[in-house]
Amino acid sequence: HVATVVSGAELARQIHKEVQSDIAKLVAEGNRRPHLSVILVGDDHASHTYVRNKTRTASLLGMSSSTIFRPSSVSQEEMLELIDKFNRDRNISGLLVQLPLPEKDVDGFHIVNIGKLCLDQRCMIPATAAAVWEIIRRTGLETVGKNVLVVGRSKNVGMPIAMLLHSDRKHERSGGDATVIMAHRCTPLPRLKELARLADIVIAAAGVPHLITADMVKEGAAVIDVGINRMQDPVTGKSRLVGDVDFEAVKEKAGFITPVPGGVGPMTIAMLQANTLVTEEKKIVEWAETRLCLLLASGSGS
Ligand code: ADP
Repeated sequence: HVATVVSGAELARQIHKEVQSDIAKLVAEGNRRPHLSVILVGDDHASHTYVRNKTRTASLLGMSSSTIFRPSSVSQEEMLELIDKFNRDRNISGLLVQLPLPEKDVDGFHIVNIGKLCLDQRCMIPATAAAVWEIIRRTGLETVGKNVLVVGRSKNVGMPIAMLLHSDRKHERSGGDATVIMAHRCTPLPRLKELARLADIVIAAAGVPHLITADMVKEGAAVIDVGINRMQDPVTGKSRLVGDVDFEAVKEKAGFITPVPGGVGPMTIAMLQANTLVTEEKKIVEWAETRLCLLLASGSGS
């Protein structure tokens, strides 16, 4: 028996199609075309790649986009001014700041948005958590009453994933009604193994290559790999991407598994596009009421 490999790339294509047709409809009804603006600070190579992927995908879906580049020496004052200007610009539906915090925050890291997320209120779901949620939904995995282990407690990934999965499906922002356990840096490895073996769904978001091994996984469990680690191949010397899961071994035991690359990554970008459309259609984020907040960094992967 080998696990069903859940292709994030394939699910992302589904979402692209849905977003694309929603945009076409919106525009045909005489609404303006959704626009994603990105402010990219500094010259981090990976950030530039992520941003390029996001804007390229936006244009494929019929969304316009623009990227504003600023050096890492940019002052907080200038950033605040830029963000403020974009927030008041009615032509911009979604704003993504690769480092500090936006208001029309399609990444979903604004402090008010996170507050709503934690209170099960209607809100923008941070893109990586939304990707994991959609993968679970579209694969038809049951979460109600199931054991879920989230490995990693970062505020932008582990926490929102756990928040979605443990909360009540009847609340305004529907949750997964699962029994959720969070493991992190201080969880001893033997304990992590114990907890993982109980889990029906393991979500690995620790940034540790091959942390989740086959002996830790229950037969038939679903394993969702959020990790994106760049590793040097000892033989070829080439660098390649690996997840937090020992894919080759775990796929022999799991029921479902997402690969890296081609799993959570493309889904995260798809969900970002979907989030941008949501800001346009439902005006979920109340720009005027929220205040600028540059406390949390939103420069995470994808
Ligand atoms: P991300 O933004 O992808 O979540 P971070 O580096 O911000 O990545 O967070 C990594 C998370 O993984 C942290 O919550 C950390 O405690 C957790 N973590 C790191 N190493 C281990 C480990 N060996 N076992 C379990 N959790 C770990």
